[in-house]
Amino acid sequence: MEAAVKLADKSGADWIHLDVMDGSFVPPITFGAQMVGSIRKHTQLPFDAHLMTLHPGSHIDSFRDAGADRITFHIEAEVHAHRLVGEIKSKGMKAGISIVPSTPVSALSELLGMVDQVLVMTVNPGWGGQSLISSALEKIRQLDELRARGGGNFLIEMDGGFNQKTASEIWDAGTDAAVMGSAFFNAPDPEKAMKECRKA
Ligand code: ZN
Repeated sequence: MEAAVKLADKSGADWIHLDVMDGSFVPPITFGAQMVGSIRKHTQLPFDAHLMTLHPGSHIDSFRDAGADRITFHIEAEVHAHRLVGEIKSKGMKAGISIVPSTPVSALSELLGMVDQVLVMTVNPGWGGQSLISSALEKIRQLDELRARGGGNFLIEMDGGFNQKTASEIWDAGTDAAVMGSAFFNAPDPEKAMKECRKA
């Protein structure tokens, strides 16, 4: 993990995106706050924690203490999303809300005015290396339009299927932040892969 973080940093990443999976909201288990805390000392880059967990509200303090700068949780996992967004912000972090491919943008209508970022899952969460679900790009366009009409002041982030081939359509849809997973870590030359994505 230390090597991975240092590689992303040296390759010009803007943030470190942390995919936290709990084995319940999504089948795999990745890592928790303790691991995040242990890599905090290896980079100055902001930590963007993506909680793919049930009961995300139980984890806010531990991820803040571990050095998370931004916390995004899933609306599908939290009935009281409005309250939780407020809590994350009150603890000094940026708050994000995420939707899986089967959840429409309209599910976020009461939250867009208060969140710092919206994370659109462009694959079904759980595994790396999946192909982009093109219809998910339509959701990014919708969010970009809502924002342009004064519907909020949030970044649009996408997660899943970002690579040199998909980068330009993802950008054109209105994306501000794209998560590179396997397109970076499985590339023969990760630094070059990131540069090519930026250029695209
Ligand atoms: Zn993620």
